[in-house]
Amino acid sequence: MRLCHLSVVFLAPALLAAQAPADPRLDQLKTELAKAIDNRAKLGQQMVDQVFSFGELGMQEVETSKYLAGILEKNGFTVTRGVAGIPTAWTAKWGSGHPIIALGSDIDGIPQAGQKPAVAERQWIVPGAPGHGEGHNSGVPLNILAALAVKDVMTREKIPGTIMLWPGVAEEQLGSKAFYVRAGMFKDVDANLFAHVSNEFRVSWGDEPALSLISAIFKFRGQSANAAGAPWRGKSALDAVMSFANLWEFHREHMEPVQRSHYVITDGGDQPNVVPSTAAIWFYFRERDYEHVTKMFDDAKQLARAAAQGTFTTLDTVQIVGSAWRPHQNKPIAEAMHANAVRVGMPPWDDKDQTMAKGVQRMLNWPDSGLRTKVSPLRTPEEAGQTPGAVSDDIGDITWTVPSVTLLYPANIPGTPGHNWADGIAMATPIAHKGVVAGAKVQAMTLLDLIMQPKLVADAKDYFVNVQTKTIKYRPLIAPSDQPAIWLNAEKMAKYRDEMRKYYYDPSKYDTYLQQLGITYPTIPKITP
Ligand SMILES: [Zn+2]
Repeated sequence: MRLCHLSVVFLAPALLAAQAPADPRLDQLKTELAKAIDNRAKLGQQMVDQVFSFGELGMQEVETSKYLAGILEKNGFTVTRGVAGIPTAWTAKWGSGHPIIALGSDIDGIPQAGQKPAVAERQWIVPGAPGHGEGHNSGVPLNILAALAVKDVMTREKIPGTIMLWPGVAEEQLGSKAFYVRAGMFKDVDANLFAHVSNEFRVSWGDEPALSLISAIFKFRGQSANAAGAPWRGKSALDAVMSFANLWEFHREHMEPVQRSHYVITDGGDQPNVVPSTAAIWFYFRERDYEHVTKMFDDAKQLARAAAQGTFTTLDTVQIVGSAWRPHQNKPIAEAMHANAVRVGMPPWDDKDQTMAKGVQRMLNWPDSGLRTKVSPLRTPEEAGQTPGAVSDDIGDITWTVPSVTLLYPANIPGTPGHNWADGIAMATPIAHKGVVAGAKVQAMTLLDLIMQPKLVADAKDYFVNVQTKTIKYRPLIAPSDQPAIWLNAEKMAKYRDEMRKYYYDPSKYDTYLQQLGITYPTIPKITP
């Protein structure tokens, strides 16, 4: 017990709570929660299908937020919209007093990932449109199922406490959660349960196999001229962008291998016969921690200035678009959540689900092992260390602000590439519907654990204060002057929204979205050898 001698004062309430016997109602109430969530499976399917059909990109989750917050409002939650200066962000609260437990999950889609669900080959619904090629249509529906079930139990049993739901806006751009923290969204929250779609049931504690991140757009300014008639009168901002990218590639040789960095050119000029007077490049910089990722960003700014100097242009602005700390999961809550996942078990997959999964896996030239049938073991930091990880998630900032755990729930097919249309195939089928019901049960049971066991909340805080943040203190990667990039994806969404609207799910007319689209589950086209 490494903790005991560290903070006697802090531990005192936890020790007192430890002597109190667990509430005898808890076990029975968990069984009841599972049944109540099974009874609401239809609502789960409707929410998953509805959000899938919206297919909205980060910062433009207008319909999604209206719909999900609306359901919570109808069920007695108090909704606050536009939090942290982000129009599609909200909180929904119910109950009173402590503990205050938050439930979060992401809601945004992926560009060009629109795809007919249940079809194991590339088939658009609207050509070129975005879609849920990450499965973010399922997490808030899962949290709503969990919250409604727990709310019923708390009401009947007169159990105090507050439930707060929130959406991860623009997770794909790591664009909202540092701003949520800055706005004080978690100021009074005792613990946060996050849910993320996966192809497995998995909980972990400690540092995630992930990287911290800064995402920034560098804009250069030059001078336009006729590129054929008088090129000597022009200064090309595109030259600056390309020189900056080249300098970065030379610099890459001298970086530690753990880093990840990548970029796209978001403005490369208008047409070849006009020397580009503006140009912009968007970078993601990923490294282990605050110090390393900040150093990387500083290096980039130096190279950007050098590129401007070498091309007789100016570096106009450097704007942070997103940021993320490497997530750290709370041990006591993770252990409680894992026990609940074991109790719930994997979703009851049937032959059709497995046929769907294997069809997708064969299409992807992946071993056709089908859907997983066992709950994954609790992942420790030692095991996480053996799994190389390079992704980032801005849930990290919240995990360093309040004791948090991420539930990975099985609602997708093993072997999909991620951020791809193939990741959307399962996301409005029984695979997603069953995965969300199973995940909601685990989320609900863990929520009830926290609400009914002061000892668990105290243990979680103790771990947070005396282990996790003992030497590492959270400092935001965004500057006080940085604002949320609420303009992100506005043009892309405007281009497709009217056409996509024709395919929004109408649950008053159709049992499922598959029925509305006239798709047989599963549809496995013959692959021609
Ligand atoms: Zn995600």
